[in-house]
Amino acid sequence: MSVSTAIGPDQIAAIRADLPALARRVHDDVPAVYLDAAASTPRAKPVIEAVRAFDEQFPANVHRATHQMASEATEAFEAARADVARFISAAAPGEVVFTRGTTEAINLFANTWGASSLQAGDEVLITALEHHANIVPWQLLAQRTGCVLSVIDCEDDGSIDTERALSCFSDRTRLLSVTWISNALGTIVDIEPLIAHARSRGITTLVDAAQAVGHRPVDVRALGADAIAFSGHKMFGPTGIGCLWAHGELLDSLPPWQGGGEMIDTVSFDGSTWNTPPWRFEAGTPNISGAIGLGAAVRWLEHIGMDAVAAHDLAVTGDLARRLSGIDRVRLVGTPTHRSGAVSFVVDGIHPADCGMLLDRHGIAVRTGHHCAEPIMRRMGVSGTVRASTGCFTSVDDIDRIEQALTRVIEVFG
Ligand code: PMP
Repeated sequence: MSVSTAIGPDQIAAIRADLPALARRVHDDVPAVYLDAAASTPRAKPVIEAVRAFDEQFPANVHRATHQMASEATEAFEAARADVARFISAAAPGEVVFTRGTTEAINLFANTWGASSLQAGDEVLITALEHHANIVPWQLLAQRTGCVLSVIDCEDDGSIDTERALSCFSDRTRLLSVTWISNALGTIVDIEPLIAHARSRGITTLVDAAQAVGHRPVDVRALGADAIAFSGHKMFGPTGIGCLWAHGELLDSLPPWQGGGEMIDTVSFDGSTWNTPPWRFEAGTPNISGAIGLGAAVRWLEHIGMDAVAAHDLAVTGDLARRLSGIDRVRLVGTPTHRSGAVSFVVDGIHPADCGMLLDRHGIAVRTGHHCAEPIMRRMGVSGTVRASTGCFTSVDDIDRIEQALTRVIEVFG
């Protein structure tokens, strides 16, 4: 069976040629099939080259020296910020704060906006789908401020019903912090009406866009959220780099989180004053090579075209879900109508960890367990799943391979 996608076979081949890890052979010389993009995407060649250029030619610190290598590093670092800003249609590069990833971006938001705005009894509204990165920072903040976590339940198919979500807002809701795409089930949450509703009530909005930014066009101004968080390693960039985007006025109003070099304007023993955003939130030496790599990743994605990436994503994930659900003894966990990037499943009689290990022997890389989203696993009545996750490089052959391997695993396991 084949599926027609927005990215034709020739372009898929070109994309794959740019992702050297996909050429790996594993175990007994089996060609690897990489279906773990929701955890981390393979690194694109231009990313590897940009990082290497920094390491080899101008591995200096940013912002702090007058010598040529330092200015080259600073220029490349700030150019990467501008690349990311353009990629998400931010109003200005200064709205993009570099962080270690989505987790740090959400913690940054919780410890700045949250710590300065939330009081006892104020509600932070999340969904049942959240990754731990969008649960635990709010629980930590609740211990300090007395704010309360309030959860929009999902439907039995793992989708979020807009009417149900809207009914969960209360007079005490101060923040809507919501995932755009679930890493565990692949559900695309229809966040636009939730954001619009929050805005109309003066409620601040933060979007966990970790699974969205490398999968679909993102225009933060059209989206209307106050802030979004995402990670470089889920969009073909390096690990240890990600972003918090927030609109300029909001970012300007936030107090610092971590203190140290770069985030200050002046320092004396009597007190200090703060730098302007985004540097106010980038204390210490940042991940310079990571940021430069992320800049290269977004240019690479722009070259492919995010509309094509999104269309391919929907087609390929839909095909994957159909094929896996057609295999005897396989049950999909989460069957939302709108799905992107990930398909979670369990196999009757085979523990997810065993299934993942056996698929690995066939060269198929999947993820097993709770996917850092324990509450949604519990809500779906499982302790964990096998998750196959895709990207703009996923080919029909990849889907054929997992379908065949899973069928074989089930036959052999008995
Ligand atoms: N949110 C979602 C939806 C994710 O998929 C992930 C990564 N699995 C995170 C947050 C955390 O991202 P990171 O580990 O890069 O900080």
